[in-house]
Amino acid sequence: MTVVFIIKFLEVLQMKKFDIVVIGGSAAGLTAAITARRHYPEKKILLIRKEKLVPIPCGIPYVFGTVGSPQNNLILDTPLEKNNVEIMLDEVTEIDREGRKVMTAGGEEVGYDKLVIATGSLPMMPPIPGFDKKNVFPVYKDVDQLTKMQETVNASKKVVVIGGGFIGVEVSDEINKIKDVQVTICELLPHCLQLAFDSEFCSEAEKVLQERGVNIMANQKVESIVGNSTAAGVKLADGTLLETDMVIVGIGTVANIDLAKKANLRLGPTGSIWVDRTMRTSDEHIFSCGDCAEKFSFFGGKPSKLKLASIASSEARIAGANLYGIKRESVGTIGVFSSAIGDHSFAVAGMQEEFAKQQGYDVIAGMAEGPNRHPGKMPGMANQRVKLVFEKRTKVLIGAQMMGDKAVGELINVASACIQHRMNIDDIACFQMGTHPALTASPVVYQYVNAAESALLAMS
Ligand SMILES: Cc1cc2nc3c(=O)[nH]c(=O)nc-3n(C[C@H](O)[C@H](O)[C@H](O)COP(=O)(O)OP(=O)(O)OC[C@H]3O[C@@H](n4cnc5c(N)ncnc54)[C@H](O)[C@@H]3O)c2cc1C
Repeated sequence: MTVVFIIKFLEVLQMKKFDIVVIGGSAAGLTAAITARRHYPEKKILLIRKEKLVPIPCGIPYVFGTVGSPQNNLILDTPLEKNNVEIMLDEVTEIDREGRKVMTAGGEEVGYDKLVIATGSLPMMPPIPGFDKKNVFPVYKDVDQLTKMQETVNASKKVVVIGGGFIGVEVSDEINKIKDVQVTICELLPHCLQLAFDSEFCSEAEKVLQERGVNIMANQKVESIVGNSTAAGVKLADGTLLETDMVIVGIGTVANIDLAKKANLRLGPTGSIWVDRTMRTSDEHIFSCGDCAEKFSFFGGKPSKLKLASIASSEARIAGANLYGIKRESVGTIGVFSSAIGDHSFAVAGMQEEFAKQQGYDVIAGMAEGPNRHPGKMPGMANQRVKLVFEKRTKVLIGAQMMGDKAVGELINVASACIQHRMNIDDIACFQMGTHPALTASPVVYQYVNAAESALLAMS
């Protein structure tokens, strides 16, 4: 008995010990560690992550074209170093909640006072026969996998992409851009991007993609991936066989909860790690944020399966700040993001009109469209379309969709802020938007403001 006690005592003495340990080195983990440093300058912080090189997740589609390679799309360690956060490259295999320590594949034991789990998500695997063949690639956030994928893309003449969400669309457009390769997207829903946009925006995005040479097979269920050990074709439910040299799968992601499950942490209704609004898990010393953490919608509070970097970093700023005293709370997922197909940008925040109606909201929408410069002869002129969706009873903004030039990537963030602060039609119609001939639309026709005016007209 005494010997066991002495051994344990020596182990504790030898064990590395930190005040704050963060597991995961991507959008959520990195932001949580830096936020913790800002709020707790005196604490000893360690970030443990599996991989030496961390891809910028949202930049992954661009490694096939615009940025050239996975090595050109990396999260640097500089912010961690500058913030005096230690880094350990290892895989955490177990959390000992009672002993407040984590164990790693490399044989380390690390003690913590507060733990943040930011283990993210993994690609969803479709229940499609043939999915395990060679040359079938789910989009992993992993440099080695992406390098293998890029080599296969470079050796291919035909590529089939399963899934027409924003990952599938961006990957397809980038591959199509770089080389003489025929890319075909197979999408189950009537339109690509349908889970994000109303049909009229989806149609515009599809038009741009098709004009650029991408084939779209929408409203089509993939039945199987055919070939011997290597994928040679994709069979659709209507009998069509699409010949291909490789298959890319972008149908969504699932929370990576293995560690949390093993540690008996409570899980939420969508199977992610349960957290309260402060991002605290069912263990008061453990917080979680990002793709692995359970979410609820800003609209009505229902469980939300949305997984975005915008949500991950916001949650990480909450978790990191709250470790030693609650300072921030989550308002739920708004769902704001943008995408680009060539020179055309598409952006969305909150609920689309069609989705809001399906959810039982009584809504009114307003649209405004016009040049993004004044006069239209100014360089950089492009058409900009803005659609705003308001709840009819309260006139509060609940959704925005935009397409046009690159500026919509920032204009949508204005909309997201307005949604988060529950601004109404009149607030937005009277908005004081800064304008300049070389930079924006004219104040008279400013699309964001005029979309609100148009919704007001539709109400009467
Ligand atoms: C191709 C693609 C494009 C995207 N584009 C956009 C976009 O444009 N805009 C947007 O908002 N979102 C986008 N997303 C979603 C966004 O990437 C995710 O929401 C974001 O990566 C979530 O960050 P995270 O840190 O929670 O998880 P992840 O990025 O999944 O990171 C998890 C981290 O945890 C580490 N880890 C896991 N388990 C362990 C363990 N046991 N031990 C140690 N380390 C571990 C991993 O190695 C990794 O470092 C995109 C996703 C993909 C795949």
